[in-house]
Amino acid sequence: MVWDIDSTPISNKRFRSLRNRLLFSYLLVIAAILGTFSAAVYILVARDRHQQLNTHLHQVADSSAGTLEIIVHEYRELTTEKEYSGYLQTKPDGTPLPMTLAELMSKYEGGARFPVDAEPISPLQQGVEWYNQQRQLIVREGKLFLPTLLPAHIPQQGILIQQGHIRSFAQPVYMASATNPEKILGYIRVSESTLTLEAELRRLQWGLIVGVVTVSGLAALGGIWLTRESLQPVVQSFQQLKQFTSDASHELRNPLTAIRASIAVMQSHPERIHPADVEKLKAIAFASAQMSQLVDDLLLLARMDGQEVDRQGWRRITLDEILEDLVDLYSDRAAEAQISLNSQIIPNIEVNGDGSQLQRLFTNLLANALQYTTPGGKVVVSLQRTGIYAIVSFEDTGIGIAPEQLSHIFDRFWRTDQARHQHDNGSGLGLAIAKTIAQHHQGDITVRSELGAGSCFQVKIPLASVEP
Ligand code: ADP
Repeated sequence: MVWDIDSTPISNKRFRSLRNRLLFSYLLVIAAILGTFSAAVYILVARDRHQQLNTHLHQVADSSAGTLEIIVHEYRELTTEKEYSGYLQTKPDGTPLPMTLAELMSKYEGGARFPVDAEPISPLQQGVEWYNQQRQLIVREGKLFLPTLLPAHIPQQGILIQQGHIRSFAQPVYMASATNPEKILGYIRVSESTLTLEAELRRLQWGLIVGVVTVSGLAALGGIWLTRESLQPVVQSFQQLKQFTSDASHELRNPLTAIRASIAVMQSHPERIHPADVEKLKAIAFASAQMSQLVDDLLLLARMDGQEVDRQGWRRITLDEILEDLVDLYSDRAAEAQISLNSQIIPNIEVNGDGSQLQRLFTNLLANALQYTTPGGKVVVSLQRTGIYAIVSFEDTGIGIAPEQLSHIFDRFWRTDQARHQHDNGSGLGLAIAKTIAQHHQGDITVRSELGAGSCFQVKIPLASVEP
């Protein structure tokens, strides 16, 4: 039953874009939550694993430190007592090479076991180095060592150094003698490879990435269903509202036509009208004309709302002809209002579209420009070509629009307070209709305006030559 949603498809362009935006925001939130969660898991695990490694290095260093005194002692015997001369191997320059514990122990062959109590060392992953007081490396165990010398300064609590894929911990070892507790006996350095740890963290990283991607993918599928489901009631009420507007406008047309016809008949016989009623009749005629216009506008908007563009009635429209005719038509009205109306129209600009709709679009903009320009002002209609678009501009030196109101002017029934008080013949639908028509023609309308200085409405429509 749940999948029945497709029975009312979201075909309306505006709803599709709303659905996509909802889906996008939903996915963004899910991805942000998962991303934050995964990052937190990774950081905590990585910190914990690094901590474990450091603790292990400390432990090995501590247990190895206990053996340093004996090792230093044994090593000194090798270097000072004659019976061991030649026991130490040296580099070509004469400095002795470090030895292993087993080599050091070998001088006791057949004797007591050398009492070394170091942690068992994995030969490939770790290495322990014993240094004497003069920082000379005397014994080392394991296979992994830092190639560098001991750090110049080693604090009492030791020092951790990461070099490439090796982490080392070096610490000084102090003499146990009560009289000279601060005297340094030597140093211990423990090194361990971080390759295993890095590989483990890389595996965790990949696991989390794959997890986030998989869950996001599943969330996307769920999101598609969820957004469709949640938009369904909105889409249905919108359709109902649209249907109602369309039906109501349609039904209102006939009675309005009858009223207007009756008024026209009455006005055609002024001698039958009582002088006191002449003005009332004029007001009724004006109001019914306005209502007819409003009903027509509502019907047009209801029909165009969310409809896929039907190009069947479209043909090539020569914009310069429409605009020239329009300027001619409005020149008397402009002269009456003492407004200079000029045009800068380049010829042979064609677009594909519905001629009457385009005419309606430009009429609305020109009528507004003249309506909201005070006597002595100027209105310029221009047509030019920019790239793949025909650009039609209506520029006036009229009352202008305040910046905070610019975002509302294309809303239905929206009018500025000034327009409401000074021009009572508008409905606030003109620009909404103009914008809808422009968008139906794959174009758009933009506006620039400055309060008190004037406005410029610019319509952009793709040229016929570039359309498929
Ligand atoms: P109407 O003109 O019927 O009021 P519109 O939708 O055409 O409705 O315009 C909406 C509002 O935008 C107008 O009420 C007016 O306040 C403002 N407006 C439109 N065109 C202009 C213009 N050229 N100059 C100043 N204000 C304008």
